[in-house]
Amino acid sequence: MSTQTIASGDRTILPEGTRMIPVYVMGKKYMLPETLTIQKAIEYAGYQYIRACGCRGGICGACPTVWRTMGDYQLHFGLACQTVIEENMVLAQLPFFPANRAEYKLEELAPTAETLVALYPEILKCVGCNTCTRACPMDIDVMGYINNAMRGDVGRAAKKSFDCIQCGMCSARCPAQIAHYHVAQLCRRLYAKYIVPAAKHTASRVAEVEEGKYDSALEALTKMSAEELKELYVAREAEPFDSEGWEPEDKANL
Ligand code: SF4
Ligand code: SF4
Repeated sequence: MSTQTIASGDRTILPEGTRMIPVYVMGKKYMLPETLTIQKAIEYAGYQYIRACGCRGGICGACPTVWRTMGDYQLHFGLACQTVIEENMVLAQLPFFPANRAEYKLEELAPTAETLVALYPEILKCVGCNTCTRACPMDIDVMGYINNAMRGDVGRAAKKSFDCIQCGMCSARCPAQIAHYHVAQLCRRLYAKYIVPAAKHTASRVAEVEEGKYDSALEALTKMSAEELKELYVAREAEPFDSEGWEPEDKANL
């Protein structure tokens, strides 16, 4: 491993007295400001993210990172945009996690345990170790939703996994090789298609779109300049949301 100690990035304004600490990126040692997240530290070291970076706010799940600290045998997992660097971290980015994703047509499925087990038989191999839950940066009860899926409780699995950002860190640790987030996504799809009542306002809006109600407005928008579009956006009528984030009309239509 190289002991090169350059840190070429200078885009970050650092508070006075910020300590520089050694961190290994791509096998090279860099002295980096201790206050930075892994994501910012890697950029500070001069790297540009092409993959493994998305929203930068802990929501998209694109930046899972594996690290070990020198002298410690344990592997750690976390989101690069949410984890602050530590001395002697050895970092490895995961551009994506190559978990198995089953092929299916939602229209041909039923929301049952049989469906889930047929597409993801590995869920029956869960040993109840709870490693997946401990690995989750969103504090989701991952083992819980896999257990729900095993029993065919699609609704509970869908609701429990609602905040999943598909980072894959649960699947990276699972001794049963379960692709948790794909199982969860299937549960949410089944739940939305077969269990929750259809949203009436969505159906009526789709019908309006198909009838061409918005064609002329859309055409007018496509002919506007960027400046005109910005002005229109700023002057738009703000949508009314209640304290739970619902529009009154949407809530009434659920
Ligand atoms: S990590 Fe895998 S085996 Fe362990 S509880 Fe989670 S799903 Fe089950
Ligand atoms: S359930 Fe798994 S894929 Fe989803 S956010 Fe948690 S660790 Fe990431």
